[in-house]
Amino acid sequence: MEVLYSSTRNSDKKITASQAILKGLADDGGLFVPDHIPALTCSMKELADRSYQDTAYEVMKLFLTDFTEEELKRCIERAYDSKFDTDVIAPIVEAEDTYYLELFHGATIAFKDMALSILPHLMITSAKKNHVENEIVILTATSGDTGKAALAGFTDVEGTKIIVFYPKNGVSPIQEKQMVTQKGKNTFVVGIHGNFDDAQTGVKKLFNDRELAQEMAEAGLQFSSANSINIGRLVPQIVYYVYAYAKLLKEDKLSEGERMNVVVPTGNFGNILAAFYAKQMGVPIGKLICASNENKVLYDFFTTGRYDRNREFVLTSSPSMDILISSNLERLLYRIAGEDAGTNAALMESLAKTGVYEITDQMREQLADFYGNYASEKETSDRIRSMYENTGYVLDTHTAVASAVYQKYVEDTKDETVTVIASTASPFKFTRNVMNAIDEKYDAMSDFELIDELSAISSVDVPAAVAQLKTAPVVHDHVCDKTEMKAIVKHFLGVDA
Ligand SMILES: *Cc1c(COP(=O)(O)O)cnc(C)c1O
Repeated sequence: MEVLYSSTRNSDKKITASQAILKGLADDGGLFVPDHIPALTCSMKELADRSYQDTAYEVMKLFLTDFTEEELKRCIERAYDSKFDTDVIAPIVEAEDTYYLELFHGATIAFKDMALSILPHLMITSAKKNHVENEIVILTATSGDTGKAALAGFTDVEGTKIIVFYPKNGVSPIQEKQMVTQKGKNTFVVGIHGNFDDAQTGVKKLFNDRELAQEMAEAGLQFSSANSINIGRLVPQIVYYVYAYAKLLKEDKLSEGERMNVVVPTGNFGNILAAFYAKQMGVPIGKLICASNENKVLYDFFTTGRYDRNREFVLTSSPSMDILISSNLERLLYRIAGEDAGTNAALMESLAKTGVYEITDQMREQLADFYGNYASEKETSDRIRSMYENTGYVLDTHTAVASAVYQKYVEDTKDETVTVIASTASPFKFTRNVMNAIDEKYDAMSDFELIDELSAISSVDVPAAVAQLKTAPVVHDHVCDKTEMKAIVKHFLGVDA
C-alpha cells in the first residue's frame, strides 16, 4: 500500500516520499510524517539470515513506496559499501550481558553516517523522479559532527554540491581537521568569524533569499537541506533496529517474539523515534529508554508531561546531545495526539512563544512504552571507567550516558528483558574525555598520543578516519565574516558574474 506524507501541523496536503525528501521541511514549519506506519512483510526469522543491505531494502521499500526496486537497491548499494569498515555495517558487541549496537563504523565514526551515507542517493533519485533538472546544492551550518558526516555523504555524488559553514573557533581541533581535509570536487567548507548561531542564522537567510534563488535557478541550481528532520534521514535509521533484532534471533540470544528493550542516547530525538517506528512496524520491542545528559529536557518531559526549554544550556562531554529543543519529538507528539495536526500545531506554537508546552493525561498514557532518565557528567565518566575495568570494552561519552541510564532503569524496574544499547560514536572521536575518565594520568598526553594509547588499551585498531587525519592535507582554508556568506556562496557556485 502506498505511503504518503503530510505535515505534523496540517494533514490536508499529502505528498509522495520522494517529494518529502526533496522538500525536507513542510512549508508550514511542520515535519513530514507517514500517513500510516507500514507493517513488516517479512518475519524476523526470515530476516535473520539477511545482510544489512537486504534488511535495509525490506524496511525502506515499505516507507519509500514511490521508489522502484531498482532505484532503492541502487541507493542502498552505493551507501552501505566499503565506506564502512565492516561488512556487517552495524556489529553487535556483548558486554556485561547487554548488547551494544555499534553504529559508528562509517566514514566519520559516528551514527549520523548510517543515514547520511544514503541521503544523497535518495535525494538525487528523488530529484530525477520529480523531473528536477537543477543541480542540488546542500547548504549546512554545523557545530561539528553533522557537517563532516554530510560532507562525507555528498562528496563526489553526481548532481550535487555541498557547502558547509562552521564557527571558526567553535569546533574541536579534530572536528576542524576532519572538515578542512574533506576531498571531493563538489565540496566547499568555510569557517566563519562567529558562533554556531551566527552560522545557522546566516544559512537560514540564504535559504530564504529569493533573489539568490532566482539567480541560482537561472544557473540550474537549487538549495536543499540535509538536516536531521528530513524523512530521508529517519527511514534509514529504522533499519538497524530491525537488523539488531534479527541478528540476536539468529544467534539465539532471543527467541521468536521475545521482547527486546532499546536504550538510545538522545539529542534531537531522531534515533529513538526510529526505534519507535520499528516497534510500530512489528518488531517485538519492549521499552524505549530515552537517555539524556545534563540537558535533561526529555527526562523532565517523560516524568511530568511538561516540556520546558527555559533553562541553562549545559556544555557536556557528550556534545551531540547538548540540545534543548528536540525537533523530532514533534513527530511523536503528533502520533500521541491521535494524528491531530491542530493539537500538535498548538503545542508547537506554545513552544515557540513561551518555550513551554504541556500534554494532556490522555496523551501521556500513550507514552507508557517510553522511559526517560539522565546521567550526570560524573555518572558518565564513572560508567566509562567501570565498563573498561569490568570488561576491557571502551565506551564513547554518548554511549556511556545511555549505559549509565540503563543501569538506573534496571535498578528502578528490575526488568531483565534483553536489551540493546545504541552505541552512537567511536571512543576515538572523543578520545580525551574517554581517556581521562579511565585514568587521570592521561591528561598530560597530546591528542595524537592519546589515540595510540586508546588503541593499545582497548586492543582496537585506530579507525582509518582518525589515522588519515594525521597526514591528510588541508584543502579548504576559506574563512569569512558572517556578512560575507552570501558573496562567498555565489562565488563558489559561479553565479557572481
Ligand atoms: C546526533 C548524535 C546523538 C543524538 O541523536 P538524535 O537522533 O539527535 O537523538 C547521539 N550521539 C551521537 C554521537 C550523535 O552524533
